[in-house]
Amino acid sequence: MRAVMFNQWKTFPTLEDVEKPTPGPGEVLLKVAGAGACHSDVAVYHDMDDTSAPPQLKPSYILGHENSGWVEEVGAGVTGITIGDAFLVYGPIGCGHCPACSRGQDTYCQNQADMPYMASGLGRNGGMAEYMTVPARNLVPLGDADPVAAAPLSDAGLTPYHAIKNSLPKLQGGGKTALVIGLGGLGQLAVQILTAITGATVIATDSKPDAMERAASRGAITVPSGDDQAARIRELTGGRGVDAVFDFVGIAPTVALSMQSVAVQGRVTIVGIAGGVYDWGFFTVPYEAELLSTYWGTIEELYEVVALYRAGKITPDVEIFDMEHALDAYTKLESGKLSGRAVVAPHGQSK
Ligand code: NAD
Ligand code: ZN
Ligand code: ZN
Repeated sequence: MRAVMFNQWKTFPTLEDVEKPTPGPGEVLLKVAGAGACHSDVAVYHDMDDTSAPPQLKPSYILGHENSGWVEEVGAGVTGITIGDAFLVYGPIGCGHCPACSRGQDTYCQNQADMPYMASGLGRNGGMAEYMTVPARNLVPLGDADPVAAAPLSDAGLTPYHAIKNSLPKLQGGGKTALVIGLGGLGQLAVQILTAITGATVIATDSKPDAMERAASRGAITVPSGDDQAARIRELTGGRGVDAVFDFVGIAPTVALSMQSVAVQGRVTIVGIAGGVYDWGFFTVPYEAELLSTYWGTIEELYEVVALYRAGKITPDVEIFDMEHALDAYTKLESGKLSGRAVVAPHGQSK
């Protein structure tokens, strides 16, 4: 089968012929419906190496950690799964039995250091291929929803959903505001999720005008970059500052903008993995303002994301690529010219 291989640090992936996998005990074989290209993949193959990456991310493996598919075959011991049904894949794979994994939060597995990989497509073969194997535990049913367009939900949907859900205490009540910085794959879904599950006014910014137009069409108030950007954002909140900030870029200037915009007792969640550092000071940060990072989400939250999708409340914008043009998905993502999340659909829309 055809697959997008990540073979070497600081090297662009390649499209290759590899062997079709067979499901082991407890696993299923999925005929891949969609595999989204996430900016984290670019960080993995472009920026990381043995000194900076966790050992679980070491190449080589098939990329694609944001996947959906139809069950083609089940491995030994798997029951209750119907061949042909469509599922989203919960990407992270922890030990399965520590307290974090027991609540479906494999991202914070306490035995992660002993695991051979982090997730499907992150250390273990992922979904940028015609077929993939996943543990049956990691399947979230899609019912009759379109699985190709749904693929981004498993990361570009789940990651902002988890961050927003964690920040709900800051967004409860009237007159609350949220700020979304970076309106790409994750950020566009963040705007939709904030609108769907909170009553907050959504303020949004991106360096690209078309990304801001798209967010504005979904009800966000957009504020272009510029020297007085934090002041303009603060003005929109009546001078109080933003209750919950979500930074999907994560470079030093956007972390600084987040901290300049946040309200007293507000919260800033950094989602972008660009590694920006911030010089915290008692007298420069609003009282009780929180600053935290976050990583992906839980299996249960992925069910909730699917429910929003099936109810028509969130819809990923997708640009579809066939298998032979899978590498173009990454080239276009890197160029910043995508008009939605790049999704590789190896079999078109067909089961
Ligand atoms: P993307 O490329 O689709 O979107 C990034 C957006 O940010 C683009 O629209 C771009 O124009 C905008 N942008 C870039 N620099 C900017 C700046 N200085 N100011 C304002 N906007 C700017 O990327 P994505 O796939 O949505 O991922 C976003 C980030 O989240 C990446 O860093 C990715 O690695 C990270 N990520 C983190 C997690 C997690 O669990 N923490 C999960 C998935 C992705
Ligand atoms: Zn990702
Ligand atoms: Zn665990």
